[in-house]
Amino acid sequence: MTNVQTLPRVAVDLGSDTSTRPTKAMLAAMMAAETGDEQLGEDPTTTALNERVADLLGKEAAVFMPSGTICNQIAMLVHTRPGDEVICGAGAHVYGSEGAGIAVMGGALIRPIACDRDIFDADQLTAAVRRPKMRAPRSRLVVLEQTANRGGGAVWPLAAIQSVAARAREHGLAVHMDGARLMNACVAAGVSAKDFAAPFDTAWIDLSKGLGCPVGAVLAGPRDFIEAAWVWKHRLGGALRQSGILAAAGLHALDHHVERLAVDHENARIFASLAAAIPGVRLDPQTVETNIVFLDLSATGIDTAILYRRLREQGVRIMVEGPTRMRAVTHLDVTRADVERAAAMLAQSVEAGPT
Ligand SMILES: *Cc1c(COP(=O)(O)O)cnc(C)c1O
Repeated sequence: MTNVQTLPRVAVDLGSDTSTRPTKAMLAAMMAAETGDEQLGEDPTTTALNERVADLLGKEAAVFMPSGTICNQIAMLVHTRPGDEVICGAGAHVYGSEGAGIAVMGGALIRPIACDRDIFDADQLTAAVRRPKMRAPRSRLVVLEQTANRGGGAVWPLAAIQSVAARAREHGLAVHMDGARLMNACVAAGVSAKDFAAPFDTAWIDLSKGLGCPVGAVLAGPRDFIEAAWVWKHRLGGALRQSGILAAAGLHALDHHVERLAVDHENARIFASLAAAIPGVRLDPQTVETNIVFLDLSATGIDTAILYRRLREQGVRIMVEGPTRMRAVTHLDVTRADVERAAAMLAQSVEAGPT
């Protein structure tokens, strides 16, 4: 193994939109936050954030959570019983990136749908739903990701959501939105968060992705669902104390960091078109709708681990997604000059050849 210490500082971090640092203004808002005991409902800033997000998503109630993962897990735990099945895209975070949590804690199965850009339609959903049989798992819940992360940040069109959600209801399924990047979808599509969330029983937004907060997510739904979610929040150790410091960052982000997501999308498009011009790099810039760019490097004949290392030595981070695939994500700590530099370094790293 190489000593990480010998690598230069990451100057351009396209690894993930979780890598943002709080801005000075956000830190000031955090320092000024009024706080209390969240578990007693006495933290006014957290209460304000919960009300704000419930309103934003058009739901009865909301609850602050330490992460998006716990929002998904708790939502699935409340929606399902042991022996139930959760249907989602094959690339879904709930399927591949949450430690099989719902199987471990809830005894439920996941049934993935293999689909283009991780977006499926009502007929694909129907094909995945089990017919009621004593020996079959019970289909119970559908999870959609807005935007679809492994789908390259693809935006679920509102009509597609409505159609899948309507079909889900015909099958008696609940519908949950993993809204880790919902606000990116809203800005890209010009659709309100409330409209995107309306077809869902439950939904959440992440504060620590493109919105630029250090910590946090907010889960919303009907009042009885949120009460049940609170039980799991305690059970899993997610109930907090003076969380207002974090909630203040969330309120600040909702005020100041939503519209600017358009800049991240523009930077992603610029990066995509520069990268697409590099011989051996395959990607269609037309498919870049938000802040995520997947690169197919199979035609370069260079292992992505080698490309990662070369870029990293130049202070540029792009994530390895497999032996031939890499992922770049833009966010508020990445400028246009940064993506231009990253693309130039990528060109150089590819040009250097396989060894
Ligand atoms: C990041 C992410 C999550 C998990 O959010 P954390 O706040 O990192 O726990 C869930 N779903 C999707 C689509 C994500 O990209």
